[in-house]
Amino acid sequence: MDFDHYRVRPKQKIDLKNWEPDDTRGWKGSEKATAELAELTAKLEELQELLYCEGKRRVLVVLQGMDTSGKDGVIRKVFEGVNPQGVRVASFKVPTPIELSHDYLWRIHSQTPGKGEMVIFNRSHYEDVLAVRVHNLVPDGVWKKRYDQINAFERLLVEEGTTVLKFFLHISRDEQKERLLERIETPEKHWKFNPGDLEERKLWPQYTEAYEDLLNKTSTDWAPWYIVPADKKWFRNLLISSVLVDTLKSFDMQYPEAGEDLSPYAARLRAGE
Ligand code: AMP
Ligand code: MG
Repeated sequence: MDFDHYRVRPKQKIDLKNWEPDDTRGWKGSEKATAELAELTAKLEELQELLYCEGKRRVLVVLQGMDTSGKDGVIRKVFEGVNPQGVRVASFKVPTPIELSHDYLWRIHSQTPGKGEMVIFNRSHYEDVLAVRVHNLVPDGVWKKRYDQINAFERLLVEEGTTVLKFFLHISRDEQKERLLERIETPEKHWKFNPGDLEERKLWPQYTEAYEDLLNKTSTDWAPWYIVPADKKWFRNLLISSVLVDTLKSFDMQYPEAGEDLSPYAARLRAGE
């Protein structure tokens, strides 16, 4: 999978009209992709185990996208095989009064991964240049400074040993309509439907502009964004899995070696200790 095609270059101008949400990069249909995804899932399981055992590195995966873009689906499918011990999801909702009384990165920093851990952000500090910008929750002068602050914050994380991968799940407005209708028309999905999503949908152009801006300003050499075509769920999953597996493989991790010869312990156990 040639995922580099979807990586945003630092300062690259992004016009989302030129990024097809239903692009599948030559993959035809889901069948072959499903088999490939199963292989990647198994590989990710193995690599995450190694990450945990080695206990040296930290991995942060940021998921952003409009309502219904598939953030929950990615968490369910891409991370299907991983060991819950060592993997954690942090979901960022409308900030609580306590969160709001601090700077916007306070709640974020406290959820970043520890050594050996992989953390998935379901929404993130990027809401502070998205929802906050679109709804005018702070003055322009405040959110405009945040791009540089976010780049500096992520740089700190990376310099201290965290790998940061950011995925923008790019769906079309038509696909969102279908998915919202599905939520309304399927009783098992009613819990996912929020009438407020229709209000947010009206702000599609404003959100699009805010996304284009943040993709342009915060895709860095140390913490790149990937624009993930997300109308086709199978392609979305395949692309994200590929990036994760490739990144973890590049760590060239090893199971920790024992610091001493362990055979005397086996001998003692066998002798009845
Ligand atoms: P959901 O992910 O569908 O449960 O919705 C969470 C909601 O919280 C979304 O509408 C986000 O835009 C909103 N949200 C998350 N973070 C912030 C933030 N920092 N400021 C304002 N709204 C936020
Ligand atoms: Mg929602």
